[in-house]
Amino acid sequence: MNHTQDLLDDLINQARPFAIKGKVADYIPALSDQDPTDLAICIYSLDNTSFYSGDYMKKFTLQSISKVITLALVLMDYGEEKVFSKVGMEPTGDPFNSIAKLETHKPSKPLNPMINAGALAVTNMIKGDTVIEKWDRLLEFICHLTGEKVSYNEDVAYSELQTANLNRSLCYFMKQHGVITGNVEDLLVLYTKQCAVEMNCVDLAKIGAVFANDGIDLETGRQVISRDVARICKTFMVTCGMYNSSGEFAIKVGIPAKSGVSGGIMGSVPGKCGIGVFGPALDEIGNSSGGLKLLEMLSTKYSWSIF
Ligand code: GLN
Repeated sequence: MNHTQDLLDDLINQARPFAIKGKVADYIPALSDQDPTDLAICIYSLDNTSFYSGDYMKKFTLQSISKVITLALVLMDYGEEKVFSKVGMEPTGDPFNSIAKLETHKPSKPLNPMINAGALAVTNMIKGDTVIEKWDRLLEFICHLTGEKVSYNEDVAYSELQTANLNRSLCYFMKQHGVITGNVEDLLVLYTKQCAVEMNCVDLAKIGAVFANDGIDLETGRQVISRDVARICKTFMVTCGMYNSSGEFAIKVGIPAKSGVSGGIMGSVPGKCGIGVFGPALDEIGNSSGGLKLLEMLSTKYSWSIF
């Protein structure tokens, strides 16, 4: 049996007790149906081989992980200057859905694209005349990255749309200050669909591998994300990818990573591999409890910290 496979099986077993210490997110009602005991990992190497273990067939929604992908698309469409005129580059130290700094920080633009306010501003920039055009464009880009036909979970998207009053208020605040334009409900429809894009940890690891490979698709050798944009995205993953515990994660794990409240985490080890992790039970900050443990053990084992 392969060494990497043995290691992943072993890490899953070791991390399972940590997984069940967390709690499944329920502020989006449909997410509360997830099984807190699920735990899965995939490592996708840049030579296009992959290893996976645990509940790796289980699909989950990307939630905040989608923010990195949308950022990559919009940066390639408009360039840094335009995008960063609407959203900043600094970590906040606040929870991902906080509204506080939108008011106190001048100018009134979100501090970075990984918090909800910043992500909503980025999604607002996706090219297209209608929600459908914008959505098709984003989904096509995601399918390019995974090399698979992916779709979204309608129940989760609808459930979030019905309850997204905090995100709604962030949008109206930003609209007042000229950060976003257009119809707020349309933007929320698009954003909740983006967050509800569904895949398993193997697909997620593959996207992480494209970022790790400086934006080059592993199968076709095509530059699907420009090198500069891949670098910017990985930098945000380091500084803001794990919400307000990005600093602790940088010390303990040291891998560019982005997490979502569904319990997914996408990791990207530059020049080596992508990592997809799933464990829906979350810690108080909103990161997968079992996923954090898995990544910490894996990074230590292979000395994958970029620092
Ligand atoms: N869709 C979620 C929200 O906006 C994403 C948040 C997250 O994964 N942290 O609340």
